[in-house]
Amino acid sequence: MISNFTFRLPTKALFGKGQIASIADEIPKTARILLTYGGGSIKKNGIFEQVQSALKDHFYIEFGGIEANPEYETLMKAVTLAREEKLDFILAVGGGSVLDGSKFIAAAVPFNGDPWDIPYKKVPISTALPVGCVMTLPATGSEMNHRAVVSRRATQDKLSLYSEWLRPQFAVLDPTTTYSLPAKQTANGVVDAFVHTLEQYATYPVNGKIQDSFAEGVLSTLLEDGPKLLEHPTDYDARANVMWAATQGLNDILSVGVPGDWSSHAIGHELTAVYGMDHAQTLAIIVPALFTHQLEAKREKLTQMALRVFHYQGDIHRAAEFAIEKIREFFEQMGLKTNFSALGIDDSQFPLVLKKLAEHRPPFIGERKDIDLAAVERILRMVL
Ligand code: NAP
Ligand code: FE
Repeated sequence: MISNFTFRLPTKALFGKGQIASIADEIPKTARILLTYGGGSIKKNGIFEQVQSALKDHFYIEFGGIEANPEYETLMKAVTLAREEKLDFILAVGGGSVLDGSKFIAAAVPFNGDPWDIPYKKVPISTALPVGCVMTLPATGSEMNHRAVVSRRATQDKLSLYSEWLRPQFAVLDPTTTYSLPAKQTANGVVDAFVHTLEQYATYPVNGKIQDSFAEGVLSTLLEDGPKLLEHPTDYDARANVMWAATQGLNDILSVGVPGDWSSHAIGHELTAVYGMDHAQTLAIIVPALFTHQLEAKREKLTQMALRVFHYQGDIHRAAEFAIEKIREFFEQMGLKTNFSALGIDDSQFPLVLKKLAEHRPPFIGERKDIDLAAVERILRMVL
């Protein structure tokens, strides 16, 4: 049975070519803006010029250099700047890392106490600066959701923070901004969005028919249009479909009333913190192994996926296994690896991965809370 839920999605999506211009009307003219971005891609692909021109009547200060897997030390420099300059609005221009980092800054600026307590001790926040974004990398859904993931390399921590205060006020989604993505980042984004959808779909059935059919639509779209982008990076329709699919994958529309797994993300975050692997790369390795390990618990939904998404026509008792194999093939087709050895990684750091997981998460994870540390170790060893 579907669970009770409350659903409100206040982020305004501004979708399509040329929409960066509309930020001029979305941010109050009196705002003192912190304009955040990453390592410089927006200054090479024309996005920065469009933002500058939209903000010609606004006051803003730039803060660049937010790295992939945004780093606490870097973000705290922006917090100091925002406090000193009394900035009161954050415009994030970039991928999930820039946006997640900006959400952390937004929470940290008015926070009384050590801001690391927000992700580490899960101290609730009671306010945050408003955030708007120009999302340049379809992947995380961060543009419409209430979460962020930040890293602290010194302690090998990669942690999430959650609050309705973090949901962006608006999200510009212009598919043409994604034309300049390197193929690897396009692929990472498609795989991340695909796995977000699976985390909310490949669980156990609760008769959430709407969520199921939405999820199947998102999965089918990514399967069809994701690979097209590797060949044709400026295919507007494919870019547009992938962009909107990634947003839908994690803006909570799929999650309401249905169980969520999220154990692949839990394990994946530790792998990024320990090995520096790309987020999506961790998921491409973990998901097929975790689904195989959890096969009986997930069999019904994986069978449904085989029939409805992969149009399987064979022996129904093998359908779930077929779905897992097709998922793995899709990750490989997108150019990601599906085992550790392909990345030159052995098991020597697994004890640290498990120790960090135990430090950050409850003892049992997954939609049935039946995955313990011993199971995680088995899953890691399945894909050595
Ligand atoms: P990302 O780390 O934001 O960006 C990866 C790279 O892509 C950067 O080097 C960036 O360059 C480049 N890039 C971005 N847009 C570009 C464009 N249009 N053209 C050319 N290059 C571009 O990647 P991401 O996958 O979006 O974010 C990953 C992070 O999000 C991870 O930390 C992950 O854990 C987190 N995450 C968050 C959520 C959530 O709900 N909040 C969900 C899943 C994952 P520049 O730095 O130079 O711009
Ligand atoms: Fe993710």
